[in-house]
Amino acid sequence: MIPFLDLKKINEQHHDLITQAIDKVVKSGWYILGESVNEFEDKFATYCGTKYCVGVANGLDALSLIIKAYGIGEGDEVLVPSNTYIASMLAISSNGATPILVEPDLNTYNIDPLNIEALITDKTKAIMVVHLYGQSCDMEPINEIARKYNLKVIEDCAQAHGAIYKGKKIGNLGDAAAFSFYPGKNLGALGDAGAITTNDEELYMSLKAHRNYGSHKKYENIYKGVNSRLDEMQAAILSVKLDFLDGENNHRREIAKYYLENIKNEKIVLPKAEVDNQHVWHVFVVRTNDRDKLQKYLLDSGIQTIIHYPIPPHKQKAYAEWNHLNYEVSEKIHQEILSIPISPVMTLEEAKKVVEVINKYE
Ligand SMILES: *Cc1c(COP(=O)(O)O)cnc(C)c1O
Repeated sequence: MIPFLDLKKINEQHHDLITQAIDKVVKSGWYILGESVNEFEDKFATYCGTKYCVGVANGLDALSLIIKAYGIGEGDEVLVPSNTYIASMLAISSNGATPILVEPDLNTYNIDPLNIEALITDKTKAIMVVHLYGQSCDMEPINEIARKYNLKVIEDCAQAHGAIYKGKKIGNLGDAAAFSFYPGKNLGALGDAGAITTNDEELYMSLKAHRNYGSHKKYENIYKGVNSRLDEMQAAILSVKLDFLDGENNHRREIAKYYLENIKNEKIVLPKAEVDNQHVWHVFVVRTNDRDKLQKYLLDSGIQTIIHYPIPPHKQKAYAEWNHLNYEVSEKIHQEILSIPISPVMTLEEAKKVVEVINKYE
């Protein structure tokens, strides 16, 4: 069986370095908001090219803390792509604000800048872009619209650590950016973890307090904050793994290139990497009319696949108030997509087998 993603194999490569990092934390006697978190925050800000980084507990918190710290809430609207993982919307609605869904571009699966302007009202406060599947959104037109209407641009970077748009890293393309280090992401912890990057000093200071009970100074609370701290252990592990991120992303790109050049089947639509982008291939998503048939065929041939995602957010029970709405592009995507194996530990032999099997699909 070719697994969709072999996390054990990915982390075993770094076993000794990870164990040493954990050992150091154990022996330090300091486990929350200490040296390891500071070190990772500095290292990750430098990596993204931003002035600041704030470690938090997970990707959803990273998104929702940005919205909270910007004071976006009841009565406000935030634009968000209709085909994202539900976390993007939950971060908006958990703050009392209303997510306004924007249809994506069928070629890139990212928010279509041409669909944004018509949805802006006097309640709109921000555009949340999601660099889905590992590819940056087309940020130039989006930032231009945001400037015109005085909106914040919030990046959901959970699937695109290290991706580049016109020479600039994601996480440094808007006002603030949220990262998830969930184990399966391109940069994954050994548990839950997240971070926010920004060049906005005021936001940075506010976030440092918000993640820690609204407090800068122990037992002095200036905001009604939350407990969403990145812990020392995960931070130490992430500092180790960050050194390998670019190499691992390069390996993903090699597999993707092999797929793009060799999968030849008229029933399969391949993903498109825009020329301005350095795609990091968090997942490799193909599209086909009878998706369930393709998934079964691949499984019967020893290839594990996953659907990112089977149900669009507006058709989820959680958002019953949207269930009557139709977002045709998003629905088509959710019906036809299938993610085939890609990872930093996948071998070219395995990729060859995947190509052979897919090319024989009829
Ligand atoms: C994974 C993911 C998140 C949430 O991250 P968690 O760390 O699981 O909270 C948010 N947005 C997108 C697009 C994701 O893929």
